[in-house]
Formats: sequence, C-alpha cells, structure tokens
Amino acid sequence: MNAMTEPKTDYDLATIRRDFPILTRQVHGKPLVYLDNAATTQRPNQVIEAEAAYYREWNANIHRGVHLLSQKSTDQFEAVRVEAAKFLNAFSENEVIFTRGTTDGINLVASSWGRANVKAGDEILVSALEHHSNIVPWQMLCEEKGAKLVVLPMNDAGELLMEELPKLLNSKTRLVAVNQVSNALGTINPVIEIARQAHAVGAKVLVDGAQSVSHMAVDVRALGADFFVLSAHKLYGPTGVGVIWGREDLLNAMPPYQGGGDMILNVTFEKTEYKKAPGRFEAGTPNVAGVVAFGAALDYVASVGLSAIAAHEADLLAYGTKVLSAIPAVRLVGTAKHKAAVLSFVIEGAHPHDIGTILDKQGVAIRAGHHCAQPIMDRLGIPATARASLAMYNTHEELDKLGEAVRKVVEIFG
Ligand code: PMP
Repeated sequence: MNAMTEPKTDYDLATIRRDFPILTRQVHGKPLVYLDNAATTQRPNQVIEAEAAYYREWNANIHRGVHLLSQKSTDQFEAVRVEAAKFLNAFSENEVIFTRGTTDGINLVASSWGRANVKAGDEILVSALEHHSNIVPWQMLCEEKGAKLVVLPMNDAGELLMEELPKLLNSKTRLVAVNQVSNALGTINPVIEIARQAHAVGAKVLVDGAQSVSHMAVDVRALGADFFVLSAHKLYGPTGVGVIWGREDLLNAMPPYQGGGDMILNVTFEKTEYKKAPGRFEAGTPNVAGVVAFGAALDYVASVGLSAIAAHEADLLAYGTKVLSAIPAVRLVGTAKHKAAVLSFVIEGAHPHDIGTILDKQGVAIRAGHHCAQPIMDRLGIPATARASLAMYNTHEELDKLGEAVRKVVEIFG
C-alpha cells in the first residue's frame, strides 16, 4: 500500500489489511485488487481461525448432548445468538434465528408467515431496487395464493419514488419487502419512512439487510421493521450462515418452516408440539462452526467500529467516483444522493463481461452482469453493468488501479 496516496486518519488500514490473508495474493501474476465485496467480503484471520479452532477443539453436535464438548459447542453457538441480538439492537436473543443466509431467511418468512397471512386479493409490495431473492419468493407466494405483487418504482438515479408509496399502500397490503442498500447500485433506501407508512395501513415490513450490515450500524428498533435478514458472508463471516431478526410475538405466531429434530417439544405419531422461536425455526443440525465463526466476524467488525468503517468507505466512494468520472467513456449507473460504497458503471461499446475479463487480467476483481437484479437493468434500459463494490480494507491505491485498468478497456474498445 502506498501511504502517500492514502488520506491521513487514525483508521489503521495497514493493520486491517494484514488481518485479511487473501489480500496479499496475486492473480494472473498481479497483486489482487478485490472489489467484489457486495458479492462476498473476504474473511480476516480471526474468522478463519475461529472456525478451524472450533473443529480442532470443540466439534460436537449442539443442544442434545450431555457431554462436555456438546455443552461447550452449544454455549458457543448460543453466545453468538446473544451477540447477533446486540449487533442488531434486538430486544431479545429469542428474536434471532440462524439461517443459511439472506435468501434462506426471506424464503422462511415467505413460506411461514406468508402462507399463514396472505390470501387471494392481498398485495405484497416490493421496491424496484430488489435483489431477485427479495422478489422471487414473494412472486411464488403471490402465485400460490392469488395475491398481487406491487412494485414501488425508482428514478433514473436509482432512488425510490417515495411520493408514489402512499398511492401503492392500502388495506390489502400485507407486507412491504425492501432492501436497506441496493446491491446493484448502492442506493441507501429510506426504510424507516417506508416502515412507518407500511405500518399505518397495517402491513408488515421485511428489510433485506444483506448489503447494509457491513456498511452501517443497524438498529432494528429504530428501523421499526418486523423482519430483518442478513448473510454472514457479506459481513466478513463464513458462507452458509445468516440471521433473521423478527419480532418475538410474530415469530411465535408463525408456523414452522421445516420439520425435524431440535424444533420440537414433544412428538407422537398423532401430534407434534413445537418449540417457541427461535428453536421452532431451526430444524436439524445447523452450521455450528459457521455460526461460531460468525461470532468472530461480529467481534472483528466491532473492534474496527462500524462508524469508522462507514467513514472510510464514504471516503473511498468519493475517491472512486472521482477516479471513474474522470474517464470520459465511463458512465456511472446509480447516482443516488444516499449511497453505500458501490460503483456500478458502463462503457459505451464495451460489454460489462469484457470489462470484467480485462480488469481480471490486471488483478482487479469486479463483478459484471445484472447482479441478480434484472428488473433494475430493464428499468434503466441496459443489459448489465460492471460493478466495483468496496469494503473496509480497500484503498485509494486500489481505486487508482481500477482507474488504470478501466482506461485500458477504453483503449481496447476505442
Ligand atoms: N439481497 C441482497 C440485497 C443481496 O445483495 C444478496 C446477495 N447478493 C442477497 C439478498 C442474497 O444473499 P445470499 O446469496 O447470501 O442469500
């Protein structure tokens, strides 16, 4: 890292980068510049080590064992539930359900809460900025029930048209499902206001926090939502782990998602009694090692501090915007006033996949495509974008390399 090009703050970027071993590797003989953090972040040694240490020293199945390893495994697993509750400022750890990730979490809510509460003629409102995983489960539910999917539109900058919201909400609206930060464009959505208006018509609110939790402190009490979902792998933690936060009374009124071991109080062939939340929604053996490692990721993020991360990323976003805007052939896509550290762009005459491939050869890892948000691309009249998405460990120097690599693309495509 070139200290000369980095802004002077007390943010200890060099130490943070040393914690992420993958950042020192090369690809195609070039130092890796990892700018695909919205797809998945990298993991610090602390997380990698926590997962390995769990397998080396504590591995056992949880909740059912009387032996020491099982008890200690259970303690570690449940301690992360408490930690996740604190991270989200939940009222209680009973509101925290472990899942496989955001997609799994949304499907759980759609299957369990949705099937029990949505009927023919009802409406579910999603925003134009949603990831497919916050569209398709609701569409499937609507198809099954004869309900209607309603869409809150956006403008050309990628901002939701909030003036349309009151016109779309009514007594038939059962649920509003919206992301806090768009993965494709980086837009930060006004979820507090959306939740307030949704509740005023009696609808429930699900916030997809997959892209927000690594960039800003989330307080589910302040958001006023009913469900909040996240993926650990986008928060410096392992793949295959996620969280649903839900209001305890709502969760306890919901039917189970999957049946099996660990979610029951009592089983006979005639009838089964289910546990309360969260156990009711955690059938089978969970990803215990992953949850333990997720706890290490939460510790790590807390040790750096989300406000420090947010300040660093705001600086990176401003710098990266300047770097790309200085290249005349580049058009930034998604220019919302409130944005997280995502730089989506197109270059006239160059397909985003070609941009991605040329950048890759120079060590710069970005994403190219529709980012699992095809309706956004349709709305903007483009098939795809190239997307650089930033994280706590990125640097100005890396954004300069992005700029250099993009200039090469422009040279090649004239
Ligand atoms: N929602 C958003 C906004 C996302 O960015 C993603 C992942 N790209 C998801 C949902 C799905 O997350 P996962 O693949 O971890 O289930």
